[in-house]
Order: sequence, then structure tokens, then C-alpha cells
Amino acid sequence: MNDKEQMSLFDLTPSEVPLTELPQADRVAETLADKKTARSSKNSSPAVSTSVPANQQFANLDALRDAACNCQKCPLAPTRTNVVVERGDRKAKILVIGEAPGEQEDLSGLPFVGKSGQLLDKILESVGLDTNKDVYICNTVKCRPPNNRVPTEVETNTCKPYLLEQIRLVDPKIILLTGATSLKSILGVKLGITKVRGQWYEWEGRLVMPIFHPSYLLRNQSREQGSPKWLTWQDAKAIKAKYLEIIAAESVTETVLSAQTQIEDNFESVVPLPSQNSSLVSIEEDEEF
Ligand code: SF4
Repeated sequence: MNDKEQMSLFDLTPSEVPLTELPQADRVAETLADKKTARSSKNSSPAVSTSVPANQQFANLDALRDAACNCQKCPLAPTRTNVVVERGDRKAKILVIGEAPGEQEDLSGLPFVGKSGQLLDKILESVGLDTNKDVYICNTVKCRPPNNRVPTEVETNTCKPYLLEQIRLVDPKIILLTGATSLKSILGVKLGITKVRGQWYEWEGRLVMPIFHPSYLLRNQSREQGSPKWLTWQDAKAIKAKYLEIIAAESVTETVLSAQTQIEDNFESVVPLPSQNSSLVSIEEDEEF
């Protein structure tokens, strides 16, 4: 499959884009761009508080889901239909963070299931990643803001412990930040997505890459070199390459550990280790002679 054919795998026609999703596209990044900060922060590891106090941590993702589904902590609670917590594999190595549930997500209770979500799936599928088994998907806030507005700082901060706990419990190696809201929530600074997308950052021992929000790509259908869609395709390939690198490294580590265990087992079977009642002479006893 050539480049052109592969890119066409994640095409959606403009007529398929519901109007309710379009405002998000215009909000992506540029309204939050702070070029000076972007330049000084590029490829750095922004210092942001990332831990949830131990007494507020969840034992597992089921407990987190239960708590979120009953949560009334921020002003988004009264207007939601469903709390939108997660979809995908809870053991995935890649975690995708979006902004907030839209209309379809609010109705279904699942993140990224509208046109933007379908496009996200296609982007990942175009490089052989399955969103059901290779990826875990969630949002910065779990309840839909009225009229798809950007979540406020209060809402984002109030919901952030859930997000941080999702990251801790899923324990992904790679985190993808789609759009400016998730970028600010995790890296803690206002950055122009067009400046930082496709860059790898190290955050809490994990690799983080900001990418364009799929809704932005729905508004920008060009596949020309340098277009948002073309750039996203480059990002998708880089993400897949890093994913394979991580899998390969883990495989080597497992092989080495397995070989070490085998050697130790073999050694013990040939040379019995001294037990408490062993008749072998200890070094101290030996030194008395
Ligand atoms: S958005 Fe988050 S903090 Fe606000 S009510 Fe929903 S779950 Fe709770």
C-alpha cells in the first residue's frame, strides 16, 4: 500500500461531519497558543503535580468508574445524560486523552464514538493499531459541557483526579493528547498544538505526544504535504514505530529474565544451596581453623 492509499484509510467526507462537532475543531489549539511558552517548553518535561493523594486513589478501574458515575463534584453533573469514562483495553500500552464528551458520547456513555471518534479509529487502524485492544481512550472531563463548549478550568481541575488515576491504573507507555485541553491538563501549560504536535515529551516516565484533535482534521480534508491530515499521518507512523520499539524492548527483557531464571534453576539443581541445617562449613567457622 502506498502513502496515498494508506492516508485514504482515514478519510471521512465533510457531509458526514455533524454540525455539533464543528465548534470543537476551531477551538483546537490556536486559541490557546502561547508561542513564547511553546518555544521554551519544547521537548521539556513540564513540572506539574501528577499524583493523587493516597486516600483518594482507587483500587482498580471498576471502583473508579463507579465513583465517576455517581460524581456530582462539578457544574457539569446536572446536565449530563451519562458519565463517559472509558473505552478500549484497560491494559493497553497506548492511552488517548480527548477533551470532553460530545452529544453521541453523552448519549452512549462511551468516549470518541461520534464522527471524531470514528476518524480517530481510522487514523490508528491505518497504521495497524486496533482501538479495541491496543488503545485505551478517555477524556479530560467525564461529563458533557453544554453545547460542546470548552470545559472550564474548574471543571477540568475537579475531574483531573479521575484522569490521573486512569493513567496510573492503566499504566500506559504512550499517551496521546488530542487537542489543546488535554494538552494543558497533562503538561500543565498553554501550548499551540500546531507547534508541538508530533513531538515526544517525557512525562512521569511515560512518552507523551500531542496530536491534532480528529475534529480539526474533519474540517481540514486536504491531504497535501504539510496539511493537518498529512502531518497526523506522519504522527501515526511515529506512534506505531515507538509502539513496536516498546514491544520489542519488553520482549528482549522478558527473554533475558527468562534465561536468567533458567540458569538459576539449572545452577540450583546442580549445586544445592545451603539450608539452615546444612552441614556445609560456613566462612566464619572456616576462619577459626
Ligand atoms: S465532569 Fe468529572 S468532576 Fe465533573 S461531575 Fe463529571 S465526573 Fe464529576
